[in-house]
Amino acid sequence: MDRRLFEENIDSAKRIVIKIGSAVLTNKQGLEKGLIFDLCKQIALLMKKGRQVVIVSSGAVAAGITKMPEKASGKSIPEKQALAAIGQGLLMQVYEEAFSKYGFEVAQVLLTRDGLVPRRRYVNAKNTIKTLMEWTVVPVINENDTVATEELQFTDNDALSVLVVNLAEADLLVCLSDIDGLYEKDPRIHRDAKKIEVVSQIDGAILSMAGDSPGRAGRGGMGSKLRAAKMVTSFGVPMVIAGGKQPRVIEQLFNGKGDCTLFLPTKKKRIFGRKPWIAYALEKKGTIRIDDGAVTALLERGKSLLPAGVVGVSGEFQEGDCIVCVDRFGNEVALGLSNYSSSDLKKISGCHSSQICSMIGKDGAKAEVIHRDNMVTLE
Ligand code: GLU
Repeated sequence: MDRRLFEENIDSAKRIVIKIGSAVLTNKQGLEKGLIFDLCKQIALLMKKGRQVVIVSSGAVAAGITKMPEKASGKSIPEKQALAAIGQGLLMQVYEEAFSKYGFEVAQVLLTRDGLVPRRRYVNAKNTIKTLMEWTVVPVINENDTVATEELQFTDNDALSVLVVNLAEADLLVCLSDIDGLYEKDPRIHRDAKKIEVVSQIDGAILSMAGDSPGRAGRGGMGSKLRAAKMVTSFGVPMVIAGGKQPRVIEQLFNGKGDCTLFLPTKKKRIFGRKPWIAYALEKKGTIRIDDGAVTALLERGKSLLPAGVVGVSGEFQEGDCIVCVDRFGNEVALGLSNYSSSDLKKISGCHSSQICSMIGKDGAKAEVIHRDNMVTLE
């Protein structure tokens, strides 16, 4: 990897979120204890050199299955949740043993998406993680699968790790997967597939390289990793995908010899505060299509979104809900809190701001559909 890119994006990272997928942590027999110990040893070494690490670990369902293989075919949500409840303790037990061998304490943190919607809870979770890091304890985070419902779960731990990057205010996200990076085509099918070393913009061409089928044991796939990368990089944080089963993967990554894909941040300045909460914690209730002029105003001039730029509204949402703005090709360009419900927005789409009050029959209506203070752009 290019020396400058390594130094700016990986070597300089003081606080790192390492996401470890189920397929890395388990094999058909169960949790791969030796491999987990080895990863923990490398993480402990990073911490001894002064870096702070937060782990996002999958593997609960897979570990549960190895305890009760006769239930492996269970596809219903309660069955998967039961398997996760069986496996989560086993998973923590291995982390606990491994880190105590290498000189650190661990802490289990289980999160749900809807649990973090109230801003006060989000801030509390943030403070807990901060305290653990100050105590040099390793937070090991997973979704609280028992209470997650299909609509309100993070869907996969790639999405969860995006949220954790912001809770921890981390400088780098490392996704350890059963695949060692992004390939131009699926290397499991095409032997000649080439790996992309550095991605500076996650555009249509990059997105088309990902098949969405998840690996053997986890819920995410390359598609969900690219969605995570798009979010993380739009907040000024780089992300790496590396092969979690490769020997010395973390050590090599931080020696500058990592065989991986690096996604560069698209914003120069890191974004903190309320905006990551809007973008990551809140459920997206609707989508609006905006015209080219509005795309330029949002992305290049940092403007608020006005009704004149809205050309389509889909989904049902209320005032204050988080919605996604897409361009005419369907690419996501921004997220934010809507000042209007979907039904009012349909009435005022394409109108000049001065016409809003008469169109919806309310006085004192806001001029913007999404104010820039409540908006996150996704370049
Ligand atoms: N929370 C799930 C587990 O621990 C994993 C979700 C995922 O694979 O992304 O098994």
